[in-house]
Formats: sequence, structure tokens, C-alpha cells
Amino acid sequence: MPNRNYKAELVGVFGYPVAENPTVVMMEAAFRALGLNWRYLTIEVKPDNLADAIRGLVAFGMRGINLTIPHKIEVMKYLDEIAGDARLIGAVNTVVAENGRLRGENTDGKGFLRSLKEQGSTRIAGSRVFLLGAGGAARSIAVELALAGAGHIVVANRTRTRGEDLVRTLNEATQCHADFLLWDRQLAIPEDTDILVNATSIGLFPDIEAVPDIDYRTIRPDLVVCDVIPNPPHTAFLKKAEARGAKTIDGLGMLVNQGVIGFKLWTGLEAPREVMMEALSKEFAG
Ligand code: NDP
Repeated sequence: MPNRNYKAELVGVFGYPVAENPTVVMMEAAFRALGLNWRYLTIEVKPDNLADAIRGLVAFGMRGINLTIPHKIEVMKYLDEIAGDARLIGAVNTVVAENGRLRGENTDGKGFLRSLKEQGSTRIAGSRVFLLGAGGAARSIAVELALAGAGHIVVANRTRTRGEDLVRTLNEATQCHADFLLWDRQLAIPEDTDILVNATSIGLFPDIEAVPDIDYRTIRPDLVVCDVIPNPPHTAFLKKAEARGAKTIDGLGMLVNQGVIGFKLWTGLEAPREVMMEALSKEFAG
């Protein structure tokens, strides 16, 4: 009888609620495409059970885990090591288990950066960014842009404390200069802006007609306009930006790219990006 290995390598996601998290679709498609006996498990973990869940992960010899709401901050106290950018972001969305140690990473902002770079014509070094939102997605994007050399970031947020906190992090821990803008009225996008990002949850399914309250007449054709919303990828916000002639980058690319980065962290292999993109696009279309 030939040598057989029936042992599966396990990764997955802990969240609560977690049932609607679609990451399994793209990860399993990637494992199948590469013929890997790996499984991505979508696991509901209530907040009180996170410590036990992490012990379970170690006991099962799992290779890592994604964290989603509400565990991204709480998980940090159970890890042996936290990557520098994740520490600045203040959240971990990917844990890598290696040689008996747990390392925390944050791939959200890196996925965003990769989407910007794929777009090709966007220069990040020295760029001027206008960022809508100061939540988890906004923090990860702002920190990665700052670490990649962005020159100036305006953080516009409805809630002052969250916005000011992010601006403080950027000014204290990176070379980038940041300013806070209270978002309590319709905002004009400054003329010298290179990159505009919607990092709020405005426009997420099912509220697909909602758009951020900005003056769309201030969007110029040479602006790169990005959205974090993956579902639907072609948001009303991006449609309005396209109507102004701007280049746009959607949140589906960011979601796939953060998965591509996580895949590499866990397996050490290059992820089949197109397979993952197709699987997730089909899922959202269906
Ligand atoms: P948070 O709850 O941490 O932050 C939400 C942000 O949106 C806050 O800044 C909040 O402002 C702002 N906001 C929400 N509603 C409004 C409104 N009506 N007017 C003005 N501001 C508003 O969420 P996350 O940052 O974790 O997620 C945000 C979005 O990013 C989600 O839709 C998620 O799907 C998406 N996302 C996409 C990823 C991808 O890979 N494409 C990865 C991660 C997230 P305030 O502080 O005032 O409440």
C-alpha cells in the first residue's frame, strides 16, 4: 500500500457572529487549486470563550486563525509576538502558529496597499491621502500607507475621539503627517489630494444606495478613489467617483489580497489569486 497521509492542516476564523463570513469560500478554492489537504473552518467563538478557543487552536496543532468581530483586539493578549504594524493598528486579524509560538499579524491594510500597487499608476511615497473613517479598516489602511511613505493623511471621522486617536498614532509612530477633520457636514476633498478612501461601512449590503456625505463635485479625474466595501464591490460611491472621471479601486480586491497575504503566511506558498477572486466574486454575485 502506498504511503498515505490523511492528516489535514487546519486554519480558519474565530468570530461572533461569524456565519456570514465568506473567507472560507476563497481559502478552500485556493487549497483545492493547489491540491493541498488544508481546511478552513468557520468557527463561532463567543467573547468569553476566546482564551479557551486559542488553547484549542494550539491543542489541535492548527496552523493559524483569522480573527473577526469582536476578537481582533482581545486576541492580542494571548499571543507570543505581534508584528510592528499590527501593534500600531491595535488589532490582529491573522495569527500564525509556528514552532509552538503564536504570532499576530494584520493583513487588511497590506491587502489594500497591494490593490493600490496592482492599479499601477498610484505612487504612495509622498502621496496626500483623504481618509473617510477611523474604525478598524481605516486604522489598518492609514498605518500601512504611512509606513509605505505616504506624506500626509487627513482622517475625517464622525466621532472625534476615534479620529484623533488614529491621528496621534500616525504622528507619533510614523514619518507621515496626519490631521484630524471632524465629519459633521458635507466635506469637500482638498485639491491637492492624490488618494481618497472610503473606510467607513457606508454602502455595505443591504444598504447599497448609501454614499458618504462628501461634495462629489470636488472629485477630480486624476484622483484615485478607493472603497473598502467588498459587497457589493461596485458601490454607489465608486460609481459617483467614476462619473467624475476618477480611477477607482474596489474593496473586493482588498479582501482577496488580504487573503492572498494570509495564505502565504500560513502555507509559505504563493496563493492562486485569480482562483480566489473568482470564487469570491461568484459568491457575492450569487
Ligand atoms: P468599524 O465599526 O470599526 O468602523 C466603522 C467606521 O465607519 C467608523 O469610522 C464610523 O464612524 C464610520 N461610519 C459608519 N457609519 C457612518 C455614517 N453613517 N457616517 C459617517 N461615518 C460612519 O468597522 P470596520 O472599520 O471594521 O469596517 C468598516 C467597513 O470596512 C465594513 O463595511 C467592512 O466590511 C469593511 N472592511 C473591508 C475589508 C476588506 O478587505 N475589503 C477589511 C475590513 C473591513 P464612527 O467612528 O463615528 O462611528
